[in-house]
Amino acid sequence: MTERIPVTNIPVANHRPATSQPIVTKGFSGRFRNLRIGGGVLLFFLYFGTVWLPWNGQQAVLWDISQRQFHIFGATFWPEDLTLLMAGLVVCAFGLFFITVLAGRVWCGYACPQSMWTWLFLWAEKVTEGDRNQRIRLNQAPWGADKLFRRFQKHGLWLLISAATALTFVGYFTPIRPLVTELLTLETGAMTAFWLFFFTAATYINAGWLREKVCLHMCPYGRFQSVMLDDDSVVISYDSARGEPRGHRKREVAPAKQGLGDCIDCQQCVQVCPTGIDIRDGLQMACIGCAACIDACDSIMDRMGYDRGLVRYASQNQLAGGRFRPFRPRLAGYAVVLGVMVAALVWAVASRPLVSLDVAKDRTLFRYDGAGRVENSYQLRLLNKSTVTGQYQLAVEGPAGLALEGSTDITLAPGESRDLALVVSVPPEQLEQLSTELIFTAVNRLEPEHSARQGSAFTGPAWY
Ligand code: SF4
Ligand code: SF4
Repeated sequence: MTERIPVTNIPVANHRPATSQPIVTKGFSGRFRNLRIGGGVLLFFLYFGTVWLPWNGQQAVLWDISQRQFHIFGATFWPEDLTLLMAGLVVCAFGLFFITVLAGRVWCGYACPQSMWTWLFLWAEKVTEGDRNQRIRLNQAPWGADKLFRRFQKHGLWLLISAATALTFVGYFTPIRPLVTELLTLETGAMTAFWLFFFTAATYINAGWLREKVCLHMCPYGRFQSVMLDDDSVVISYDSARGEPRGHRKREVAPAKQGLGDCIDCQQCVQVCPTGIDIRDGLQMACIGCAACIDACDSIMDRMGYDRGLVRYASQNQLAGGRFRPFRPRLAGYAVVLGVMVAALVWAVASRPLVSLDVAKDRTLFRYDGAGRVENSYQLRLLNKSTVTGQYQLAVEGPAGLALEGSTDITLAPGESRDLALVVSVPPEQLEQLSTELIFTAVNRLEPEHSARQGSAFTGPAWY
């Protein structure tokens, strides 16, 4: 059976240099930083840009709370489709499990909004307050004009990013163009203003002040690592067999001749770490898999003339001299289940009914009409959930001689619903019991595949 990676929970405070409270990360460059910046730019572009996209004359992605509709690129989902949304979330969660077993916390390092916004705020901090040493000096300096000005710039930039984030987020629930117009003309409603303020404050506090504390103390995902990772999971690891014993050395003499490994104990991997941990202590709960330590260590290895990869993506088996085994039973099982779940979800979304028919019977049991027929009354609600106009023919299936009174030819615009009152009458001799089953149908004449059926009951006198 595959062994699990022992994930340790080392207090972050044990690693932090006394001069860097709170954590002040050092700037660095490298291939994984470039990868994260590229991915981050794409994600920010999608987040800030998608909200402005039009589609068929309306916002492409909009969770319209007032209309209780969710529009996404021409498809509309209704409250009845909530189960599909829940199923989608379950599939995403399972996908995250699969990725974690395969490659640890890549989600946290490259795509999690908390990480991405923290990196963006760190960039704003660097732009306004300088590099790590300048920021440490600024933190320790007494208050003066320069410190005040730099702090003002930093918090101003943070607030600007937070406000843009909040406006975009609210824009996914309230059409963004009218929202911006309302803001510019100071006509924003109290509820909208509250949510704008709330999400601005939440972004500012989370990415500006709490940062790694959200990952360490509030996000449960890191805790799952210990049960999901195994010895074949590819995680960011320090190669202790190669690196130890660590220590300072003469550069021109080979490490082995000095009784040393390749780690020069420069602490660069710790200084770039956004959660302030030392990867050389092993895989830890606090490691968000950002790969900053790989970039930092690779640059040191380059400078020393050693091979890169003292800190690298590797499985525990690889570090022990074994090979990488991507196709193991557990992962294959996850992949099969994930594939089935995705296929089922796609099928459920593609085949969901695009018309909804609700039938409610009036409370009165029954009555006779002038011709002696038994009558029951019904309230119907017909809803066109598609994005095109629907022409529906209402009908009822039931006992022989059944007749229907009321409008039965209904045309509904996309998203339109109509309440209808219908009376069904049946000759009394056709009723064999107190309650007889009826089926109401709404057949879409233009797209018969998008039709609806709904059962109800017809009540007659007890003596038939
Ligand atoms: S950056 Fe590399 S060489 Fe420097 S302390 Fe970390 S592991 Fe050792
Ligand atoms: S240990 Fe390395 S990968 Fe983990 S959070 Fe710190 S810098 Fe990122």
